[in-house]
Amino acid sequence: METPINTDVAIVGAGPTGLSLACQFIRYGVDFVIVEKNEGVTPYSKALGVHARTLEIYEQLGLAQEAVAQGAIAGKVRLLEGGEVRGEVDLTNVGQGLSSYPYMLVLEQNKNEQLLYGYLQSHGKGVLWHTELESFSHREAGVTAHFKNATGASQIIEAKYLVGCDGPRSPVRRALGLSFEGSTFERLFYVADVQIDWKFNHDALHVCLARNSVVAFFPMKGEHRYRIVGAFPEGMEKEENEVLYEEIERRIKEEAELALDISHVNWFSVYKVHTRHVDRFSVGRCFLAGDAAHIHTPAGGQGMNTGIQDAYNLAWKMGLVLKGDADGRILDTYNEERLPNAKRLLGTTDRMFNLAAGTDWLFGLIRTTVFPPLAKYILSFDVVRERFFPLISQIGITYRASSLSDHSGDGEFEVKAGDRLPYFLVDGKSIYDKLHEPKFHLLTFSDGLSDYQAMGSEIESEYAHLVDHHVIPLYPHVAEVFGRNKPFNVLLRPDNYIGFISQKTSSSWLRVYLNEVIGHS
Ligand SMILES: Cc1cc2nc3c(=O)[nH]c(=O)nc-3n(C[C@H](O)[C@H](O)[C@H](O)COP(=O)(O)OP(=O)(O)OC[C@H]3O[C@@H](n4cnc5c(N)ncnc54)[C@H](O)[C@@H]3O)c2cc1C
Repeated sequence: METPINTDVAIVGAGPTGLSLACQFIRYGVDFVIVEKNEGVTPYSKALGVHARTLEIYEQLGLAQEAVAQGAIAGKVRLLEGGEVRGEVDLTNVGQGLSSYPYMLVLEQNKNEQLLYGYLQSHGKGVLWHTELESFSHREAGVTAHFKNATGASQIIEAKYLVGCDGPRSPVRRALGLSFEGSTFERLFYVADVQIDWKFNHDALHVCLARNSVVAFFPMKGEHRYRIVGAFPEGMEKEENEVLYEEIERRIKEEAELALDISHVNWFSVYKVHTRHVDRFSVGRCFLAGDAAHIHTPAGGQGMNTGIQDAYNLAWKMGLVLKGDADGRILDTYNEERLPNAKRLLGTTDRMFNLAAGTDWLFGLIRTTVFPPLAKYILSFDVVRERFFPLISQIGITYRASSLSDHSGDGEFEVKAGDRLPYFLVDGKSIYDKLHEPKFHLLTFSDGLSDYQAMGSEIESEYAHLVDHHVIPLYPHVAEVFGRNKPFNVLLRPDNYIGFISQKTSSSWLRVYLNEVIGHS
């Protein structure tokens, strides 16, 4: 038996969600232990897409530049039907004006995990690898968790909170007795990392529309290298582990109706697609995040990104509670904000997925008959920028209905409490450059006439550890973003979501928000 460990938070699972939570805890000065049953980060590429919102989170960790340097910006999407190109869109700068990262980055999951793990190590922290959760009990004051390590020895961790970031089969979720309702698609799906010789350039995601489903070819680093994703027809009698690679290749060739030569298979996997979520993200002092709480179809590449955002949402709230800057009720807003998001996400990814792989005759008809002539419109730059980018990149997620969103001052504004702070430039630099500190941010948009000095001094003397203050000229382009050309203040939560908008020049409203909404005393 190893000496018991005492900590504030025990994190179970060091996938992208657990590692992200650990990195955020470092920012917020929270003591934690992270435990993983495997011996290191995943060696598999798994998730490929890293979205704008995730890169904004990486930016606060100082990891965005490195992620972008290691990855590749998704370029064109080319739509193929009957062996011919039916439409093409260039996504390189598709979210221009919406984020510092106006694109999707292709960076494999193992590289994301390495980056996050590197951050932990550079801050003197590590992961207890090869250590598996066996059981835990929780009570009003804390959690006791029992693990078995690589040598077979038992390890006890006493913590104030436990967070299960332990993936789709989540032992934590099961032990808490939480339901995981949803469904499983009948069809088997495949994914293969291969080399392809064909007539198309290696500069685009190729999407082949077929009556049976869609086959997608994602360009990867390396000459002619692609990730292929597709589905077997319904009614296939085999289980996931009984399918040979040859069957996958035959299927790809039949579905894609293209002359293509596949070689050098690096990795392939056959899997069932599930779409499920818990009905609550926490019980007492135990929380769930990432795939442990929700799994969905691969459409839109949302899984890894959503887990990272769950962690981001939970970390600052736990950080405040553990430091005594908020009362425990703020932790209820984790469920309040992330459960509706998970439900919405399942709905959207199911719809996208049905269009891509639905077996219904209607979906087949849409894919092969309705969609191709409309492809040029649907793939037009403006439609993709305005409709799809905010959705897929996750910058469009809002928490307007959350109890942390105080709407009493936002009536006249385009932007509301609960929205992510819109991206804009201040003197040629992203506003997000000012928002790296793990604190609330008070942004005063000033016309240069009103006096904010008294308010600034009050904040400095009373809340310096909790809030930083930035006075920003109310430039016309900023007034346009907010729909208001008179001075105002915006209080951002540490995750850069708007908590409150006020037109007052004193700090009384800030005190009310922090005391009554956050529970700061
Ligand atoms: C082929 C494929 C392609 C995908 N493509 C995308 C994509 O393009 N974009 C995207 O966003 N998502 C994608 N996903 C989904 C993505 O991989 C998952 O959503 C992501 O891994 C979830 O991260 P997580 O940390 O929540 O869970 P996991 O990655 O499953 O990590 C959970 C960890 O917990 C550990 N664990 C479990 N039980 C215990 C225990 N008892 N004790 C200790 N440790 C334990 C596990 O070993 C594991 O390391 C893809 C998935 C697959 C399989």
